[in-house]
Amino acid sequence: MREEILEEISRLTTLGLKRTLRLIQGPQGPKVTMNGHEVVLMCSNDYLGLAGHPLVKEAAIKAIEKWGTGAGASRLVSGNMEPHVILEERIREFKKAPCALLFNSGYNANLGLICTLADRSTEVFSDRLNHASIVDACVLSRAKVKRYANRDTSALEDLLKASRAKKKLIVTDSVFSMDGTIAPLPEIASLLERYNAVLVIDDAHATGVLGKSGRGSLEHFGIKDHPSIIQMGTLGKALGSFGAFVTAGQEIIDLLISKARPFIYTTALPPSACAAATKAIDIIEDNPKLIEKLWDNTSTITKGLKEAGFDTMESVTPIIQVKTGESHRTMEASRRLLEHGVFVQGIRPPTVPEGTSRLRVTVTAAHSKEELEFALSAFKEALNG
Ligand SMILES: *Cc1c(COP(=O)(O)O)cnc(C)c1O
Repeated sequence: MREEILEEISRLTTLGLKRTLRLIQGPQGPKVTMNGHEVVLMCSNDYLGLAGHPLVKEAAIKAIEKWGTGAGASRLVSGNMEPHVILEERIREFKKAPCALLFNSGYNANLGLICTLADRSTEVFSDRLNHASIVDACVLSRAKVKRYANRDTSALEDLLKASRAKKKLIVTDSVFSMDGTIAPLPEIASLLERYNAVLVIDDAHATGVLGKSGRGSLEHFGIKDHPSIIQMGTLGKALGSFGAFVTAGQEIIDLLISKARPFIYTTALPPSACAAATKAIDIIEDNPKLIEKLWDNTSTITKGLKEAGFDTMESVTPIIQVKTGESHRTMEASRRLLEHGVFVQGIRPPTVPEGTSRLRVTVTAAHSKEELEFALSAFKEALNG
């Protein structure tokens, strides 16, 4: 067994696919310390800088003082506490949805949601570039999975037309996490009634990012919440905390509570994580300028990279991909950027399709103009020389 393990590691190394951890010293923020040096962080999903916001931290600390550090059991046993219920109510209001249910992470939410809604008699229509947690959920659900080309609504419609399944579930990321593109949700939503299908939207990178008030992809497109649309979102990205949620009608939430294994068989989120996310939503609602700043920064970086001759493909969100193509080349670019004081992660297969390795740059509202200028100069010096 040991020999096979070593062989696999050396295979990954040869292919440029071996992954290693890098240590961030001190807290998250627009600048972080790595190897004792301060670098500009351009690969975090803390889009609004709320993970280090004084009021969010204060809320978490107060929650620990009031409710302790752990929930001690799953929600269905004795772990259902006031911070969980308060946060669910806050999410329900924020998303303008009928009901909300917390999960312990986005990965768990997708597993629980898709495996509860889909079974052997279901066809799941899944965008080819959907997040790994959706891919895994589809496998685990035992549903028949039909994958369609990224954002290709007519390919999706062809599959729906040909389907004779009684239960049809369409699943898509709203913001594609590695491409920074947005799914054509109005077109997809227009198919729901005709084909008697249900739509699951993964708003992991849209929550706190898309829409004027950060409510997500439905707000961005002006789509009204609808019984056939179920959303999930995470608390660990723009909300600066940890965990995830599903919003849907009461009957779906009831079913999830009774059947979703990643909800049932896991200890409830710590009270402090819930209190932090609740405060983060308050801050987002009270400060619409935060989202404006995020998008101003996004256009500064996107424009700057394009002007410097980098190919940002079709990215239109704070996730900006910079085409590099090959794994070794990508990791070398990431290494050189770090030498120039900017931390950008290289993304390789199997996270993205073969031959499409890229640098994945993310921008946050917390970046100053100077930090963005510094990052752009580093790109030019490190990669254009
Ligand atoms: C990050 C992410 C998830 C997983 O969320 P976690 O809370 O980090 O587990 C799910 N879907 C998408 C699209 C994501 O980007």
